[in-house]
Amino acid sequence: MRIWCLPMTIWEPSALDRKDHSDQMLYGIIYGILVAFIVYFAAVAIRLQNISAMWFTFYIISLGLLMGCYQGYIQELLRPLFADLNRVLLITVIGSLYFTGAKFLRTFLHINFYSKRVDKILWGLQWMGIGFIPMNIFANPLTPLYSIILVGIGPIFSTTVSIVFWIRGVPNAKYFAIGWIIGHITSEIDLLRIFGVIPWMPGNMNLLPAAMVSSIIFFSIAIMEQTREYRDDAQQDNLTGIGNRRRFDQAFAIEWNRNLRSQQPLSVIMADIDDFKAFNDTYGHIQGDECLKAVARVFDKNLQRAGDLAARYGGEEFIGLLPDTLSSEAAFLAEKIREAVERLGIRHSESRTGKIVSISLGTGTMVPNTEKTPADVIQQADEALYQAKNTGRNRVVSL
Ligand code: GH3
Ligand code: MG
Ligand code: MG
Repeated sequence: MRIWCLPMTIWEPSALDRKDHSDQMLYGIIYGILVAFIVYFAAVAIRLQNISAMWFTFYIISLGLLMGCYQGYIQELLRPLFADLNRVLLITVIGSLYFTGAKFLRTFLHINFYSKRVDKILWGLQWMGIGFIPMNIFANPLTPLYSIILVGIGPIFSTTVSIVFWIRGVPNAKYFAIGWIIGHITSEIDLLRIFGVIPWMPGNMNLLPAAMVSSIIFFSIAIMEQTREYRDDAQQDNLTGIGNRRRFDQAFAIEWNRNLRSQQPLSVIMADIDDFKAFNDTYGHIQGDECLKAVARVFDKNLQRAGDLAARYGGEEFIGLLPDTLSSEAAFLAEKIREAVERLGIRHSESRTGKIVSISLGTGTMVPNTEKTPADVIQQADEALYQAKNTGRNRVVSL
């Protein structure tokens, strides 16, 4: 009986994917590009202590080895030594590609910051990459199922995650997602070709290397953007001068871990200007910007304890981080900020809450634990803010 299982068909790649000499130069160029990327990102990883660049480096090394296996170069080198080593090598390279790919995805997008559950699934897939190696070297009745889950579901799940993060506007997720989509969809197509589900066509042998190079280029753009942002210290909001969302996310991750150890409550205040669209429509965008700056100053002035941070979260939304702060204290402070904004007395004839600019605030508080993520506190504050808006605006709601 022939078991549907990876080892059956792809371990003898030289018979399938052997290139003639006219293609040798193309591959020479591709390997050259890979080596250049490996050297560059290894340097970035070391110099800037960038963990995602490190995992990316390991990922490209695995990709290069996989391509070498497909092309049959590595087998050629090893053939005189051990015939069976070819199979073991290819299995190992595929396993390590899954491991490093998942690890790269998790670190680059800070998945555990946004969702513990998604991160856990990816963690599982990552270690299934390692399990793939013994599972296939010692093929057994469970091997096909195991391989289908990893090779079939893994890329679909991870691609979906990267697209969702892109849509949600997670920093730098866009180029990353494009790289991930190109790399994974084409490798799935390639697998279908290897298994004979789709016909072999001239030209589709170049599909995989072309996809590898283009996905690596997109990943590189994503990492370079990320490192540039770290380097430029682009953690300030251009308009208001207070912290931006990136600054907030980083500070929050640090404070979260600190409070996780100390088991102190941590609070977040989320604020949104009331009827701000009407303000812009009435007084124009320039006045709107001035109003944003004034509200930002109030926010910043009121968050002065060590560890506190005021940041602009989005268009007309502000967020405050309050480590070691009880729910009642956060509510008290939020009310103080609300009153201070009212006291600015910025005219707003179209406001539904009065004739001056007001804000609505929501607070969330949590003692961090390993089952929760920072995103859960933000969601709590967001829900509170939503209630404040729905119950008449210009007020504070605490959850
Ligand atoms: P609500 O009380 O429910 O919050 O109503 P709203 O009109 O404030 O809410 P909505 O989200 O509909 O409008 C937000 C507006 O904020 C839309 C946009 O014109 C304005 N805005 C966002 N960013 C900026 C900015 O950087 N400058 C200016 N001037 N306006 C901005
Ligand atoms: Mg809004
Ligand atoms: Mg608003």
